[in-house]
Amino acid sequence: MAEKAEAGTKPGKAPEEGAEKPLIRIYPEWCKGCGICVAFCPKQVLEMGEDQKAHVAHPERCIRCFLCARRCPDFAIALTDEEGRAVKKEGDDQ
Ligand code: SF4
Ligand code: SF4
Repeated sequence: MAEKAEAGTKPGKAPEEGAEKPLIRIYPEWCKGCGICVAFCPKQVLEMGEDQKAHVAHPERCIRCFLCARRCPDFAIALTDEEGRAVKKEGDDQ
């Protein structure tokens, strides 16, 4: 019997696939369109737009692994808290 998980129905759920808030911020003025974040994202959350900038296409898939933020050479993408402040992965000094 496969259980069906519906996004947004379990408020106490840990941040994982199906998290309600995207909390990913891309700074388009810094994004040079290299596509590294898109390539590294394991959940295909990010896509390149026609403007040659990264965009958050599927925020509900984000597992907050921080790979995008760590790999972006221009610090143009960050994970944020609910108030929009950039956060780092636990244990990251920089
Ligand atoms: S934190 Fe991980 S899953 Fe979320 S957008 Fe970045 S690379 Fe993708
Ligand atoms: S890795 Fe950074 S500079 Fe490259 S596309 Fe993603 S956000 Fe833009």
